[in-house]
Amino acid sequence: MVNLLDFDVEGLAAWFAQLNEKPFRARQVLRWMHRAGCDDFAQMTDVAKSLRAKLTEIAEIRGPRPMRDTTAADGTRKWLLGVDNGKNEDNAVEAVFIPEAHRGTLCVSTQVGCALDCAFCSTGKQGFNRNLTTAEIIGQLWYANRALGAVKVPGAPDEGERVISNVVLMGMGEPLANFDAVVSALRLMLDDHGYGLSRRRVTVSTAGIVPAMDRLRETVPVALAVSLHAPDDALRDRLVPLNKKYPLKDLMAACRRYLENAPRDFITFEYVMLAGINDSDAHAHALLRLVRDVPSKFNLIPFNPFPGSGFHRSRPERVRRFQELLLDAGRIATVRKTRGDDIDAACGQLAGQVRDRSRRVVVMPPESSRRPAGAAIS
Ligand code: SAH
Repeated sequence: MVNLLDFDVEGLAAWFAQLNEKPFRARQVLRWMHRAGCDDFAQMTDVAKSLRAKLTEIAEIRGPRPMRDTTAADGTRKWLLGVDNGKNEDNAVEAVFIPEAHRGTLCVSTQVGCALDCAFCSTGKQGFNRNLTTAEIIGQLWYANRALGAVKVPGAPDEGERVISNVVLMGMGEPLANFDAVVSALRLMLDDHGYGLSRRRVTVSTAGIVPAMDRLRETVPVALAVSLHAPDDALRDRLVPLNKKYPLKDLMAACRRYLENAPRDFITFEYVMLAGINDSDAHAHALLRLVRDVPSKFNLIPFNPFPGSGFHRSRPERVRRFQELLLDAGRIATVRKTRGDDIDAACGQLAGQVRDRSRRVVVMPPESSRRPAGAAIS
């Protein structure tokens, strides 16, 4: 069975062509799938009966399998989604819906686990398992839309605001390390026959895979967030090991290139606030020098703790002071509100129920012998 969620618009048209079906048929089916959240060919009333019968025989629309559904006190909702169709209970990813006054953001995962091993990230600690397919990435949006009751029947007038107005690829995994599947999913998010989101409402977050940033700009230039976390190479090498491959000078140049043909755009620099590690006044000043000629905004993320991380969240006064230094220099700097704290749905806490199949051994020292904050990466 071919899972039609795996195709973007072009891909589905090509597959339909093999069946001797016209491209407009592919668009019709796409709208039923993504706009109406439909998974049953029989319901696609404006599609020829013979085609519906043929599709039922050879194809399916199979979204991820819900394993857990939790809602936090602040309304943040987290789904644990099985991605191996029952074959492997261990492979699951998390998607998080964050409702706000004037928008609803879905945070989507792109890999099961992650290979980057950032020092402060819980997903990194479980190692890398595998890339998600296009169906599994877009399937999170498809599933969340259905679960939130936000689907629309094709042809029906658009009413009011969408429940999911923004998508951020900031869940588990490094999106740019799973480039092709991510690009197909992005295309579906932007396509009018898919989710019809504007490219500024879809954000890819990367730890900084420089060549892939260039390719993204050439293929689907959506909004880009870069996980900076340190203003110099020595510190960043330790926090984000990928920095050894793509150091700050190359990363900043890639950021500038990303914006070359998009004068109204900016890079969002994510900066996790780790007490005593990267949160001093001197770090803020160094940061300002580093990004001086990159049109950008800062998003400061108070560290979200997880057992055995060895790091601590910067105090609120410290975060405020750090933010003020950036603001005083004329930069835009926001502090990310921590959402879904009580259900471990915050950034860097998504661990899912993924067994660590990497060779990396994560051994937690007993509580008493853990290094104090500030010494965690020494
Ligand atoms: N691989 C992508 C997506 C990661 S998740 C990237 O690196 O950008 C999105 C953001 O959460 C990243 O900036 C990541 O560094 C940050 N993050 C990871 N663990 C965190 C934690 N424990 N607390 C706060 N932010 C964290």
